[in-house]
Amino acid sequence: MINLQDNIKWVREAIAQAALSAGRSPGDITLVAVTKGVSTEMIREGIGNDLDVFGENRVQEAECKIGELGHKGIQWHMIGHLQTNKVKRVVEMFDFIQSVDSMHLAVEIDKRAAAVRKRMPVLLEVNLAKEVTKSGFSREELFEELDSFHLLSNLWVRGLMMVPPWSDEPEDSRRYFKDLTALKEEIEGQGCKGIDMDFLSMGMSNDFEVAIQEGANIVRIGTAIFGARSYV
Ligand SMILES: *Cc1c(COP(=O)(O)O)cnc(C)c1O
Repeated sequence: MINLQDNIKWVREAIAQAALSAGRSPGDITLVAVTKGVSTEMIREGIGNDLDVFGENRVQEAECKIGELGHKGIQWHMIGHLQTNKVKRVVEMFDFIQSVDSMHLAVEIDKRAAAVRKRMPVLLEVNLAKEVTKSGFSREELFEELDSFHLLSNLWVRGLMMVPPWSDEPEDSRRYFKDLTALKEEIEGQGCKGIDMDFLSMGMSNDFEVAIQEGANIVRIGTAIFGARSYV
C-alpha cells in the first residue's frame, strides 16, 4: 500500500529544497502529478491532498477521468504523443498541451482551437538527444519554424518540454536540462512574435531535483507520488 499523503508531502518538500538550493522560490515551481494508470479514486484522494494539476498521456483514459472529476480547481495537462485524429477531443478537454512535437500537430491544434474559440496554451516538445524512438522538434527544426507560430493565432506557445534519454542516474540528465535552459534563453533572445517562453517542463520522479537546479519550473511526477504502475 502506498501512502499518498506522505508521498505528496515528501515530493513537495524535495521540490522546495531543490528550488531553495538553486536560489529560487518554491512557489515558482508547478508540480504536475502524472496520473496515467492511476484510478479516478486515487486522483480524488490526491485532490484532497492539495494536488491540483494532473498530467495524462492517453486520450481515452483521460476522457473518463476528466468527465468524472471536471475542472473545478484543477487543471489537466496532455503530456503524451498525440495523434491528429484525437486533437479535437484534446483541445476541448485539456487545459494545456505539453507535447506539441511537430508543426503538423501545431497546425491541427490551432485549427481545432479556433473552432471552439479557444487559445490553447502549449509547450513545444524538444528532442535534444535526437533519439529516434522519441518524438519532438530537433533544435534545427525548431529554429526553422519559430517564425511560423505567430500565424497560428489560436495556439499559445508558452515554453518548452523535454524527456531526456532514460537513465537511473539523475546526473546523466543534467546536461540535457542545461541545454534546454540555454535553448529557451536563445529563443527568448530572438523575440519571436507569438511565442512566450515562461515555462520549462523537465524533470520526472528520478531527476526532478536536478531539473529544478537547472531551471525547470514545471516538473512531471508520477511514480514518486503514486508508486510504480505498469503502463500499457
Ligand atoms: C510517465 C511520464 C512522466 C512521469 O514519470 P515518472 O517517472 O513516473 O515520474 C513524466 N512525463 C511524461 C511525458 C511521462 O510520460
